[in-house]
Amino acid sequence: MKRFISLLFVLLALSAKAQTPLTVFETSNGLKTATYEEAITYYQQLAKDNEEINIQEIGLTDSGFPLHLVTLDLDKDFDFKKSYDKGKTIILINNGIHPGEPDGIEASMMLLRNYVQQADKKELVKNIVIAVIPIYNIGGALNRNSFSRANQDGPEDYGFRGNARNFDLNRDFIKADTRNTKAFYEVFHKVNPDIFIDTHVSNGADYQYTITHLATQHNKMGGALGDYILSEFTPQIEQKMKARNCEITPYVNVFNTPPDQDGFSQFLDQPRYSTGYTALFNTLGFMIETHMLKPFKVRVESTYSFLESVIEIAQNDGAKIRELKLARQQEYKPGTKHALDWRLTRSESTQITFKGYEGEKVTSTVTGQERLYYNRDKPFTKTLSYYNTFVPTEEMTIPKAYIIPQGWYKVIDLLKLNNVAFKRLSQDSSINVEVYKIDKFNTSKTVYEGHYTNNNVKVIASNETVNFRKGDYIISTDQPAARYLFETLEPAGADSFFSWNFFDTILQQKEYFSPYVFEDQAQQLLDAEPELRKEFNKKKKEEPDFSNNWYAQLDYIYKKSPYYEAAHMRYPIYRLVD
Ligand SMILES: [Zn+2]
Repeated sequence: MKRFISLLFVLLALSAKAQTPLTVFETSNGLKTATYEEAITYYQQLAKDNEEINIQEIGLTDSGFPLHLVTLDLDKDFDFKKSYDKGKTIILINNGIHPGEPDGIEASMMLLRNYVQQADKKELVKNIVIAVIPIYNIGGALNRNSFSRANQDGPEDYGFRGNARNFDLNRDFIKADTRNTKAFYEVFHKVNPDIFIDTHVSNGADYQYTITHLATQHNKMGGALGDYILSEFTPQIEQKMKARNCEITPYVNVFNTPPDQDGFSQFLDQPRYSTGYTALFNTLGFMIETHMLKPFKVRVESTYSFLESVIEIAQNDGAKIRELKLARQQEYKPGTKHALDWRLTRSESTQITFKGYEGEKVTSTVTGQERLYYNRDKPFTKTLSYYNTFVPTEEMTIPKAYIIPQGWYKVIDLLKLNNVAFKRLSQDSSINVEVYKIDKFNTSKTVYEGHYTNNNVKVIASNETVNFRKGDYIISTDQPAARYLFETLEPAGADSFFSWNFFDTILQQKEYFSPYVFEDQAQQLLDAEPELRKEFNKKKKEEPDFSNNWYAQLDYIYKKSPYYEAAHMRYPIYRLVD
């Protein structure tokens, strides 16, 4: 008995230690969230008190402050390559990409402390390394207010969505307009996680759940890894959350219609989003969205429960997830065909049990028109259709290599930041390559994240011998970054560099002709080339608009002549196919 009591004292002492340092969330009884300074100071203290925790600065953000990475590693290696080689499962948690949604910031702070200080928790992470970005959008976190999350129940004040330059960082993962994204690349490739979690708070419909999940879309992820996300990882998360009395449901992707009206569909996380980007490197990605109308305290607790559930799954499935990741990587080989974009199909659905509130139509006292009202006095449990099947819309074969002339250094620099391996031509060379002409595209009429993006891109491919210069880049696709290369360098990719305006200069013609001089050259061309003359006359005969437009006629001949520049509409990245 005496031994038992002294053991009890030791345990009490340990659990007392487990309470330091305390978070702002804890000392405010769940009403407040840490400022940027408070969060960093907290982690610095935690690292000082516990040698299994490390905090480091990596890269710079637009705010002028560096990005921080905090790591829990019981072996105290703090060397991700070494941890990877030891077969440890590596989890990367990103918080505060939208600092007005700070649930993950708080949950992660408590999680790392508890898992380093409580013996029973410590046991669970023997074979796991947890890396945490405390606050990703530092500029936004510094821009604190109490209003920008109009419909959210706490905390008292919080950061703003836009970063220091008003970019939404969760749209910047491919175009990398911000320093934050470039720092993220460094973190991501250094950590090389098996599992990536991005924490958010959602807007949208009202329902009973506090937390929803938004995994990397499984068809888009593809392969056995995609199947695993759908039929093993997600169901396990759902079971574990239920066991914690904190049920989770798929992210309720609706706008102003109640989810039980037509069911709802999965959100497609294209590469511009965090989990879409991590999918390009075959990392299992999961976004969580807690529900804005639930109190901050409950939301943070449910985020905590989610992170604990992921740790439990990682303990059992870590090796399998690693294997599936490497297997999926192997499937992106030169000569194989893959999708570049996907669309939802409504012909397949899953029936899910959903706990919602009846959505009623009542007359608005503001507009006098019909409005949607969720009646919390009428909770329901219904079976709904959930649409989570996406099919490819664009498919293409991966070339052996892409050749990028050195002048396109903005793209080359991003590839380098993404650990892409390359060779450079040792001498000027003529190489037979596949060349794309941009045939069709639309440019958006409204600005989106600092861009007027190019969409619905169609190309015409042809083979040509092109002269390259010494120093131009040969990027083999036989490397782990193959999927990233394929989806960013193929212009038809949903989030290709072409769509994000990296090549807009080729869309504009640089040289023109003076009509009064070109008249005589045009006549000479027609005289010298009977085929051209035949086509020209046919067009004149068949198209009245053309025959009435002298400039269009001269321009037609100009574009068929050697005077017309080769660079116009010609995609400047080339495919090596044989
Ligand atoms: Zn968000």
